Amino acid sequence: MVEIKHIPAIGRSAAEVSAIVADPGFGKVFTDHMARAKYSTELGWHDVVIEPYAPLSMDPAMLAIHYGQSIFEGMKAYRWADGSVHTFRPEMNAKRFQRSARRLAMPEPAEELFLAMVKQLVVTDKSYVPVGGDKSLYIRPFMFASEVGLGVRPATEYLFLVIASPVGAYFDPAKAVSVWVSTEYVRAAPGGTGEAKCAGNYAASLIAQAQAKAQGCDQVIWLDAIERKWIEEMGGMNLFFVLGSGDEAQLLTPELTGTLLPGVTRDSLIQLGNDLGFDTHEGKISVDELYDSIASGRITEVFACGTAAVISPIGEIKSATRNVTIGDGKPGPVTMKMRKALLDIQTGQARDEHNWMYRLA
Ligand SMILES: *Cc1c(COP(=O)(O)O)cnc(C)c1O
Repeated sequence: MVEIKHIPAIGRSAAEVSAIVADPGFGKVFTDHMARAKYSTELGWHDVVIEPYAPLSMDPAMLAIHYGQSIFEGMKAYRWADGSVHTFRPEMNAKRFQRSARRLAMPEPAEELFLAMVKQLVVTDKSYVPVGGDKSLYIRPFMFASEVGLGVRPATEYLFLVIASPVGAYFDPAKAVSVWVSTEYVRAAPGGTGEAKCAGNYAASLIAQAQAKAQGCDQVIWLDAIERKWIEEMGGMNLFFVLGSGDEAQLLTPELTGTLLPGVTRDSLIQLGNDLGFDTHEGKISVDELYDSIASGRITEVFACGTAAVISPIGEIKSATRNVTIGDGKPGPVTMKMRKALLDIQTGQARDEHNWMYRLA
């Protein structure tokens, strides 16, 4: 058992919380509390607490700011019709957090500690979990080097925090996003940190994201670092390609080469695709093959997936040399079927055959 101390916040009134959860936006308002654990090489994990959400005070020489030992996770909690609150495959997030920590030479919180902190925060701030639709409570566990000093080496002190924010539907069913294939920059190279969910990966991707925006695109598609040829993923989501259509449709997602982030949503959709009767597999696809297959009609739909947006249909792919519209540029039927199948499990409307759901409150 993880022992967690509770320091209650005064917090918002019930009326204020109701107004927030009725129209939450994305990641702007946080709940009344946060979970925190400290680590030092001397004491290990200690001082685990649920305390009022508040700014942290930090020393200007805190190591995380200078050398970037900083990792995070993203999860969602859904309120079901009976009022109970559930999250999706949290043990996968806990294990990935450990792998990210290992890669950045940080201490690995036990799965039990990770789950206890998430659970206690959600129990404490349960009133912030929105009701209905695809609204949810977004949960953000993160850890960084809190030791003070300028020596370059793994820190000896860390903070592990969990914060949460009610979020609305992130998805407009009438709209598919457009994506920019970055040929100038790379996200991750073999032996690098592509598989780790670390802050630095995002920092390195922002310039390409700005380039995508300038080209009228919403997101970036990254290619492999060596041949600059193989499709890897989007900045914060994994990719799926639909080959053929109707009951014969097959799904393909880029294989995990060590430079892709292994998404929980990706893993779940490989299983769900096969459950729904679509032959779903992992493989390699080059950017030229992608363009040609879309042009010839062999690839009929493309979508991205991740915890935040669940599934995001892609309508258009652009690069410096080629533009292509997928199908009629609108969300396709296989994409929408996969999206509904996953959301129905997450919101408690479909049977959870794989025991993916985990009751938090
Ligand atoms: C978090 C993340 C994903 C999606 O992972 P999920 O576990 O499905 O949310 C994909 N790519 C990157 C780079 C990510 O950071």
